[in-house]
Formats: sequence, structure tokens, C-alpha cells
Amino acid sequence: MKNPKKFANELSAWYQQHKRDLPFRTTHEPYHIFLSEMMAQQTQMDTLIPYFNRFIKTFPTIEALANAPTQQVLKAWEGLGYYRRAKYVHESAQAIMNHHDGNFPTDLQALLALKGVGDYTAAAIHSIAFNKPSIAIDGNVARVTARLFAMHDDILKTTTKKKMKTYLEPLMKASEPRIFTQAMMELGALVCQKEPRCASCPLKTHCTAYQTNQQHRLPNRSSLKAKQEETYFVFVIRIGDQVVLRQRPSEGLLANMYEFIQYRSTNLNDGLIQLANDIEGPIKDLKSLGTIKHVFTHKIWHLKVILVDATSTPHKTYHLKTFPYAMSKAHRKIIDLMHE
Ligand code: SF4
Repeated sequence: MKNPKKFANELSAWYQQHKRDLPFRTTHEPYHIFLSEMMAQQTQMDTLIPYFNRFIKTFPTIEALANAPTQQVLKAWEGLGYYRRAKYVHESAQAIMNHHDGNFPTDLQALLALKGVGDYTAAAIHSIAFNKPSIAIDGNVARVTARLFAMHDDILKTTTKKKMKTYLEPLMKASEPRIFTQAMMELGALVCQKEPRCASCPLKTHCTAYQTNQQHRLPNRSSLKAKQEETYFVFVIRIGDQVVLRQRPSEGLLANMYEFIQYRSTNLNDGLIQLANDIEGPIKDLKSLGTIKHVFTHKIWHLKVILVDATSTPHKTYHLKTFPYAMSKAHRKIIDLMHE
């Protein structure tokens, strides 16, 4: 980049004029920045905003979050998906109370030691909350950078991110760190999108891809692995106006969330045999409610839902209307199916 100062000024001016009005942009409070970054992973901004506002209202401080029961935190996250993030946010708040006297750590290494905080999130908090020159490269920033410097390296590779950092360092040095970080992300979200809107881009005089007409061919990314597909039979065991729900294990996918009884199987008979063993009794009055598809980042669930009306069960039953704990999005779709 020939003129980093000019680049920094133009990017900053564009950002000040065009940035979206987001609730976590009204503050540099590290807790808010941390939460917004954790929520933003795998989540669209429009979805995130009401969750962010509700979460901050329920847990206004790191201390309030650290002291909250796990189920209350999961309930506040319910519907946002990728529940491991809720667990990490909660555990990080507890670590900050226990090891940092309730103050968010300002040091990059200490940020990286928080649960669920990787290179990107640590750099984002470091630069946005504490105005330190750490370069945060998320998907948006990677796309913008690949085009600005006409990089043909695979943007999913760690070596490419390292190379990007060396290219971005002089630009970060010429900028106010928190503005640079947020402006690059915002430019990727609003202008340098998958289909770039170069005509309205403030950086087109600096952009090698645009100057050489390669913007539609970049970035270069290796194809992602195909998602694993899994089929389950889900049994909604209903007794009057209550249903059987079970809690998932405390580790792994959807840890600690509640769900209907489900077994991985493509065959109803196999599912029924497992159910009969589990509920210790005969099963009758089956009704198919249909199939639900639920897509995770790395797998796809096909849930074949069977309603079972029973008169007794050894398992705990709940009223769905007043159920106080968190259920996964996949299983909440089943509740919708029951009301169709
Ligand atoms: S000129 Fe086009 S390709 Fe280059 S940064 Fe702007 S929007 Fe992206």
C-alpha cells in the first residue's frame, strides 16, 4: 500500500458516515464487546441484536453473569444456536471474577486464556475495547484484505492469515486501532460483500483487485468438507398436557440443553426397540408428525418425529408452556410441529 495514512483517513471517514447503529457500538465496555463478538460467530447481525440487548439487561455486569445459574444463561441464549458459546461466555465471566478481580484483562495473552476466545476474538476485544493495535481477521476482513492486495492464497489457511497481518500492520499503525478494526469489518459487511459493490467503495483507489479487475475472482478459498448427515427418531411422549424431556450431557454438542427422547437410527423399528428399553413399557398410539431438518455448521440432523400418547412413564415430565430451561433450536422446531 503506497499511502497508508491516506487509506486510513478515507476508511475512517467512510466508517464514521456509514456505520450501522449497533447497540455495542455505543460503548467500549469490554464485556459488551466480548459478548457481541461471541454472539456474532455464526450468527447474522439482525438476529444477534435482540439477543444482545436482552442478555445485557438480564446480566448487566460480568459479576451478574458469573453468579447466574448455568440454566439461566442457556435460557438467555436459547434460539441463538451454537450453545457452546453460552457456556464459554459464562465460564469466562467466572474466570474474570476469580482471577482478575472482576476486571476484564487488557493483556492479549490473558484474553486468549479465556474459554472460547481464539486469535480473532482476542484481537477484536484488544483493539475495539482497549484501542490496542491487534489485527483481527474474521471472514469479512479476510475477504476485504484478499481483494485489497489481490492475494490468491487460500483464505482458510493459517499461513494466509499471517501474511494478511503483515500487509495490514502498516495500515493499522496509520489508524486509530478501534476504528480500523471496526471499519474493516463494516466495509466487508456492507460494501466488499461476496458480490463486491466497488462503485460505492471508499477504497477503490487503493484496491489492487479492483484496479486489475479481479474482484469477482477473489478471495480464493478451498472447498469446505461436506456436512455429515445424521437421521434420528424423536419420540414426543405426551401424558395429558405434559411431555417427557431429558437433559443432554454436560459436554459435546448442545451440552446441558433439554430435548425430547431421540435415538440415532434410520429405521423406526430400531428406534422403537431403544425406546421400549428406555421407558420400560409397551408403546402404542404412535403418530408421525413429520420430519425436521436442522443444519449445524458441521452436520445436518434429520429428525423424524413420532408422537406417543402414554398414560404413565418413569421419566420426568414438564409443561412446555412453563418449561424454564433451555431447549435446542432443533427441538423447539418440534414444538411448532406439534401445534400445526
Ligand atoms: S474496491 Fe471493490 S473489491 Fe476492492 S475493497 Fe472495495 S468493494 Fe472490495
